Amino acid sequence: MAKRNRFAHQRSGFDYLIVGAGFAGSVLAERLAAGLDKRVLLIDRRPHIAGNAYDHYNDAGILIHRYGPHIFHTNSQQVASYLSRFTKWRPYEHKVLADVDNQLVPIPINLTTLEKLYNLKLTPEDAEAFLASKAEPVAEIRTSEDVVINKVGRELYEKFFRGYTRKQWGLDPSELDKSVTSRVPTRTNTDDRYFGDSFQQMPLHGYTRMFENMLDHPNIKVMLNTDFEEVRHEVQYDRLIYSGPIDEYFDFRFGKLPYRSLQFRHETVDQENFQPVAVVNYPSENVPYTRITEYKHLTGQVNPRTSLTYEYPAAEGDPYYPVPRPENAELYRKYQALADATPNVTFIGRLGTYKYYNMDQVVGQALAMFNRIAESEQREVQHDAALSRAAREMAHVNGALRAEVVHGAGD
Ligand SMILES: Cc1cc2nc3c(=O)[nH]c(=O)nc-3n(C[C@H](O)[C@H](O)[C@H](O)COP(=O)(O)OP(=O)(O)OC[C@H]3O[C@@H](n4cnc5c(N)ncnc54)[C@H](O)[C@@H]3O)c2cc1C
Repeated sequence: MAKRNRFAHQRSGFDYLIVGAGFAGSVLAERLAAGLDKRVLLIDRRPHIAGNAYDHYNDAGILIHRYGPHIFHTNSQQVASYLSRFTKWRPYEHKVLADVDNQLVPIPINLTTLEKLYNLKLTPEDAEAFLASKAEPVAEIRTSEDVVINKVGRELYEKFFRGYTRKQWGLDPSELDKSVTSRVPTRTNTDDRYFGDSFQQMPLHGYTRMFENMLDHPNIKVMLNTDFEEVRHEVQYDRLIYSGPIDEYFDFRFGKLPYRSLQFRHETVDQENFQPVAVVNYPSENVPYTRITEYKHLTGQVNPRTSLTYEYPAAEGDPYYPVPRPENAELYRKYQALADATPNVTFIGRLGTYKYYNMDQVVGQALAMFNRIAESEQREVQHDAALSRAAREMAHVNGALRAEVVHGAGD
């Protein structure tokens, strides 16, 4: 098998062409290069690695995230220890406040949120009873509106969810799959962490540095500012791993898969601090942006100035969020069927599989994919070994037969 791969190199240049240098593409590049000694060409049409997790130091010397705040959290020990090979970590538990009724209150809704909004003093039992009294049970929960109203009632739904969701998705929560708001918990204690995961840390020197370490391998060649279309017929490779948009790969044969986009306004202000936590949400439809991020909370950087990002949801632009509606899932399934019937191409990542994934989920998906590739290589090796064994045996038998014939002929 090793021999066959060496010939494959000479024939085709690369074992793998990987499209997209985000988490999906970079984890697979690293695993294939370091784990299976494959030669990998990793391309991205953007001028940088790290995909949407890309961060960099701006003119003020502050580490910012170009595509909005990326907070790392996971319950997967496997994912955390894999990434720990490429970075040290900085403990950080994400906190978010929402600007509601002219004050900043914790979101997800918790005991403090209720106390502040309703001017009450509550125990966790009181908070539970309060929410139960507000909740309006919905017989069949189908939409994002149903989820919230069933849990906390219409009043809190309108204060926190309706406007935010309408801005974020350009759709009313009643038109959106229940998965969107199901992601946000409700708490009756004072826990004000946004995530409950066991591992919540930020890469100490940022995501881009972590990706640089991951891709620092002699078998990996990275080409930036390079679209798949430009090179697909130029480069020679055996297998393709594609983490770009699946509909684009198939020339939008069945139509475009809908995405929601964002415009980011990055700004640095001449003050040391801007807001009490990293992210403040603005649920009101009277405010055009959905949230403001202040990065120094994520990094612990000390600087006399501070950098912010405002997020404005948009219908057009880079594809960020797959729109979770049944008809879109149906359209994706058609592309998935095409993908399944396309040999030597693997689709992966949030664009390749049209799913909103957190970073840790994409890492998990890529590691699982690598295991499948490694197992199938292993099977091929065994198969090849069995074939050569069989060929050797056959040659031996043939040789013996020939000897017999020759011997027989001499009799
Ligand atoms: C605003 C925002 C905030 C987020 N916050 C968080 C968070 O706090 N925590 C969290 O866990 N997750 C967060 N995520 C999700 C996170 O961004 C994704 O999980 C992760 O980026 C997915 O990695 P990926 O490799 O699948 O995709 P991407 O990071 O999008 O990488 C795909 C890459 O492929 C490239 N590409 C596409 N098509 C082509 C082509 N034809 N040719 C060449 N290159 C191509 C793209 O340029 C891109 O760089 C957030 C996402 C967004 C949009």
